This record gives sequence, structure tokens and C-alpha cells, in this order.
Amino acid sequence: MKEIGHWINGKHVAGTSGRFADVYNPATGEVQAKVALATKAELDAAVAAAAEAQKAWGATNPQKRARVMMELVRLINRDMDKMAEALSSEHGKTFPDAKGDIQRGLEVIEFCIGAPQMLKGEFTDSAGPGIDMYSMRQPLGVVAGITPFNFPAMIPLWKMGPALSSGNAMILKPSERDPSVPLMLAELCQEAGLPDGVLQVINGDKESVDAILDSEIIQAVGFVGSTPIAQYIYERAAATGKRAQCFGGAKNHMIIMPDADMDQAADALVGAGFGAAGERCMAISVAVPVGDETADRLIEKLVPRIEKLKVGPYTAGNDVDYGPVVTAAAAERIKGLIGSGVDQGATLVCDGRNFSLQGYENGFFVGPTLFDNVTRDMEIYKQEIFGPVLSTVRAKTYEEALSYAMDHEYGNGTAIFTRDGDTARDFANRINIGMVGINVPIPVPLAYHTFGGWKKSGFGDLNQHGPDGFRFYTRTKTITSRWPSGIKEGSAFNFKAMD
Ligand code: NAD
Repeated sequence: MKEIGHWINGKHVAGTSGRFADVYNPATGEVQAKVALATKAELDAAVAAAAEAQKAWGATNPQKRARVMMELVRLINRDMDKMAEALSSEHGKTFPDAKGDIQRGLEVIEFCIGAPQMLKGEFTDSAGPGIDMYSMRQPLGVVAGITPFNFPAMIPLWKMGPALSSGNAMILKPSERDPSVPLMLAELCQEAGLPDGVLQVINGDKESVDAILDSEIIQAVGFVGSTPIAQYIYERAAATGKRAQCFGGAKNHMIIMPDADMDQAADALVGAGFGAAGERCMAISVAVPVGDETADRLIEKLVPRIEKLKVGPYTAGNDVDYGPVVTAAAAERIKGLIGSGVDQGATLVCDGRNFSLQGYENGFFVGPTLFDNVTRDMEIYKQEIFGPVLSTVRAKTYEEALSYAMDHEYGNGTAIFTRDGDTARDFANRINIGMVGINVPIPVPLAYHTFGGWKKSGFGDLNQHGPDGFRFYTRTKTITSRWPSGIKEGSAFNFKAMD
């Protein structure tokens, strides 16, 4: 059995805890590797080494650090297929979707080539007589990234890019479900010229996460995962005075106005609802057609599209629309929630519970599932299902449709499909959700903008990547200097305004 360890001080290191988690091939249901789960002692030792390595890295000029990012871009492109293969085999997503996962991370590394520009401070010449004032952005020291299973390349790269190019050392604690790609990225960082010890990849579970949260050395934690863990990390990190940005779960609504192009809306919903088996934090899981006539037309368009979806292993190449979910437990939970929807009175239009694929009977597959007449009180509406299940909630008016998205506890992404610019503008202005699509179902901002949800989808006050990524992983120092004359008038006792 293949054993996956950690990446510490530029080397693969076996775990010492004796504790392991199974890494599955979700398409076959087989355990393909065991990943070591680090102890607090292993974590603490890696942090101490990172703190040493950070001193020289933090003092390296930003342009040289940016060149490491530049080389990393080339190397990730070189190894794209190899990484996508490893990603698909552990996660289950299709091969093109795995490449998309890497690509959207790579774009943040491309953005980080501009680190010198992002780190440039501000300067005011002659803020007072003989006085200059300037600010600089400095690295925090050792920072951490704790990442989820569903984007094992993209989200680690969203953390690594700004943190490393700003001069920090980083402890990356990836998901124990699909640990191989983060380790491959660490190897590429070394090949790109990142000094050993500056990036430590520690595999683990709650024990290593708690050790990160309690570390006196680690200064900031960037987390992405489910909401209960995001909130836990936010609170515990804050208790030890760390910066924390913690992104959580989602329940993304798409509003379909009567004037929308219904074919376009149905295509968008099928892709955004079922792509990656619904295991995306930006997946659309709730369709909100406005008016019964719109709802009827939408369902009529959705059903044949859903019936045509091809579900299978990533090895089937382009013939597959989506793959298995990540674990047997996830599949069981999703099927249980579908059952609860039926019990609570929703109309089950397409039922994916009995899906089975010849030759892959033990794979963690769930067929595409569509509900109609879902209401606010149902578990399938309240919970993030994180599977290939689309719920339809019928709204009588635009205001009612808006209220569904506004009142839900999650606020990651949302979309509206309409041909009316006034409705679209009103929606964009009033909605209390972080990322909004207008005739775009999955509005994931590009690398030079920032990514973050509101309400229970995001704790902390800065977004991921773009300029906020640099703000999060650096702190500002502001210097007021007087050269060369010194203080001629003697001591000043009043708190002076600049003349
Ligand atoms: P998860 O919360 O189970 O795990 C995320 C990370 O936390 C992993 O590294 C895991 O090892 C660690 N962890 C798990 N349980 C822990 C515990 N009890 N104590 C400390 N650490 C713990 O999430 P997941 O299942 O890997 O990922 C799916 C979730 O992530 C979904 O809810 C999805 O919406 C969310 N997500 C959000 C975004 C976003 O940007 N908002 C992006 C991707 C995924």
C-alpha cells in the first residue's frame, strides 16, 4: 500500500504518528494509499524550521521571489496532465475539470508574479517641514493554509501564491482526502527555486489543525472548508491573536426571471448544478424560477438535459460529465438527504439514488437528482448537500425570489438569469451575497479580483487572492521620518498636526 507522508525542509518525510487516513479512488471505491496524520510534535518541528527559513526568504528582494513564481507557472504548465491525473484519481472529478482546478490556481500564481507591485508601499514627500512619511508591507513570518478536498490544486495555490511571494513561510495543511497534488506542488516550488523549509506541507486531521491554531509562531491562518469548521478555526485562531480568514459552505441560488432565455438558463443550471458532482462551493444548488409558468417551462427544459447526463469515472475521458463523490459516507449522506426531501413533501422529478455503473459498482456515484416544489423548512433547502442534487423553489414574484437568497444563512455565490438590465442592476445592488453572476451561473472572480462569500460563507474581513491576498499575508508599517536637521525646537509635548 502506497504511504503518503509530509514535505518538510525540501524532502518527503514519512509520518511518525502511526495514524493514517485512507485515500480512495472514488470511482472504484478502492483504497489506493494511506496518508500519514501528523502529531502536534511533528507540526511544531516543521513550524520551527519554517521560521528559520523565513528569515532569509523574507529578506530576499521581491523581484527575486516573483521570479520563483514565474518559474512555478512554467513548471505547473509542464506537469499539468500528470497533476490532473493524480487529482482525478483521488478526487473523482473528470480530467478536464481537474485541469480547470489546476488552471484557476495557476492564474493566481501568474498574478503573484506582480508581487513587487503589490508590496510597494506609499510615500508622502514633505508631509511636514522636513518630514517624509511612508508605509511598507512586510511579511507576517510563518503563516498557514488549511484547505478542503474539493479543489486540491486551486485552493492550496490561492494560499501559497500571495503568502510565499510576500516573503512568508507557509505551513500548508491540505485535505487528507486527496493529498497528492499539494505534495507535487511543493516539489515544483523547490524546482522553481523556493528555498527549503519555506513551504512545509503537513498532512493531518484535527490534531495538526489544532496545533496550527495554538502555535505561538504562526501569525495567520487562511482556511477554506465547511462552515462549522470555518467558524471553529476563526474563533480558536482569534483566541491566540492570529489573523484568520475562513471561508465556509454555500447554498447558491439562481433566480430565473420570466424573460430569461430558458434554454440558456437550463444549460447553465445543469452545468452549475451537476458539474464536479455538485462538489463546488460555487455550485448552484437552488433554482428559483419566478412564476409558475416560468417554473413549468424550466422543469420541462431541465429534465431531458438531466436524463442525458453521463456519469462515470475520469478514465472515460470526455465522455463523462461528472464523476463520483468523494467518499462512501458522502454518497450515503446525499442519498439520505434526498430521502428526507421526499419525506418532507418535495416533488422528486429525477432520482439519482439507485444509479449504478457496470464495472464500477463499488464507486461512490450518485445520479443526478432534481426536486421541484421545495420549501424553506425542508432539510434539502436548509443544508448544503454538496452533491448532484438541484432543488427548485417556486417564487411568485421577483421580491420573493430575492428573499430566498437573502434570507438563507449562506452567502457565497448567486446568479440571476434575465434579459432586463434594470432587474439585473437591482439584484446586484441589493443582494447580500459576495459573488454575483448576471446570466453567468458560476461567477468565480478571476485572479486579479478577489474571492469571498458573505454571511456564514466567510468569516474574517479580507477575501482570497487579488489585492486582498497580499493584504492578508502582509502587515503595514508606517514610518514618519525627519532628515537631516533633527528637532531644533526641543521636545514637543502637544500631539502635533502637520503644519
Ligand atoms: P472540511 O471542513 O471537512 O475540511 C476542510 C479542512 O479542515 C481539511 O483540511 C480538514 O482536514 C480540516 N478539518 C476537518 N474537520 C476538522 C476538525 N474537526 N477540526 C479541525 N480541522 C478539521 O471541508 P471539506 O469537506 O474538505 O470541503 C468541502 C466544504 O468546503 C464545503 O462545505 C464547501 O462549500 C467548502 N468550500 C468552500 C469554499 C469557499 O471558498 N467558500 C471553497 C471550497 C470549498
